[in-house]
Amino acid sequence: MLYDVAIVGTGPAGLSAALTLKLHNKEIVWFGSAELSDKVGKSEKIANYPGVPMVSGEELNARFRAQVEEMGIEMTEKKVTNIADLGDKFMLLADNEMFEAKCVLLSTGMPAAKGMENEDRLLGMGVSYCATCDGFLYKDKVIACYCTDNRMEHDIKYLEEIASKLYIYTNFGYTSDSPNVEILPKPVTKLDGGMKCDKIALSDGTEIDVDGVFILRPAIAPSTLFGGLELDGAHIKVDGNQETNYKGCYAAGDCTGRPYQIAKAVGEGNVAAHAMLERLSEMDKN
Ligand SMILES: Cc1cc2nc3c(=O)[nH]c(=O)nc-3n(C[C@H](O)[C@H](O)[C@H](O)COP(=O)(O)OP(=O)(O)OC[C@H]3O[C@@H](n4cnc5c(N)ncnc54)[C@H](O)[C@@H]3O)c2cc1C
Repeated sequence: MLYDVAIVGTGPAGLSAALTLKLHNKEIVWFGSAELSDKVGKSEKIANYPGVPMVSGEELNARFRAQVEEMGIEMTEKKVTNIADLGDKFMLLADNEMFEAKCVLLSTGMPAAKGMENEDRLLGMGVSYCATCDGFLYKDKVIACYCTDNRMEHDIKYLEEIASKLYIYTNFGYTSDSPNVEILPKPVTKLDGGMKCDKIALSDGTEIDVDGVFILRPAIAPSTLFGGLELDGAHIKVDGNQETNYKGCYAAGDCTGRPYQIAKAVGEGNVAAHAMLERLSEMDKN
């Protein structure tokens, strides 16, 4: 199926766009988390969002979810790991499934952590972001897993089952009784190898030989997600319509720059939605 719009990210920016596109009866595929936004959920009190004074992040997320349900908008918890421009449409890879859409909105927030040394170079060469997609390639092999997303424990469990040896670093105290598992005391900061990743280094300099590495984070750096995307520092460069250097691909929210604020994310999501509506009607005319 060819969707009108693929929205990557369920925070306030993606939500704002999804609401407007739904009101205009557009076919959307919306990728993210059932919680919608971890960041919003973590805010103790939000004092500067109009209409809901001193609301807790948890409460605001709950209201967002209720609105999504009320509007009958569906989302999928699949994580997008790659996007490609096919000329008149975009292809998105999410948990090993391909999706196609006429327009794309990147509303991925800002990744909390910066990438590891050599991560971009070795991605797809022994380094993967998706255990479900690529785990089978490393059956009975030595795997390292770096995970900072506690919703992905099932992926770690899967890697435990298939690996001959699994080295794990998490930032949420993951434990395991499996004899083939070793919990790493320090984060992985460097990947090494020529044509394939065959070594990791921890922040204390310890080196470990591996056959493959799985990096499981809540968000992926935009340049890794979509090669060739023009950046302004760490942010996605957009014009006044929130359009990126790829025609038909838009970005909104924290991923386009400061201030990191809900009101800005919502506003940009709305601007992007209207720009996409215009582009879709132009595409229909041709
Ligand atoms: C502790 C804290 C307190 C804050 N307090 C305030 C406040 O008082 N007022 C205020 O205005 N702002 C506040 N903020 C900032 C606010 O939460 C952010 O500006 C806002 O959430 C940004 O929205 P967003 O839609 O750009 O991204 P996010 O809310 O970060 O959402 C991004 C979404 O994209 C998903 N995603 C990312 N990559 C992918 C992918 N590859 N595939 C699928 N899904 C993906 C993520 O899982 C997430 O659901 C606070 C933030 C924090 C952390």
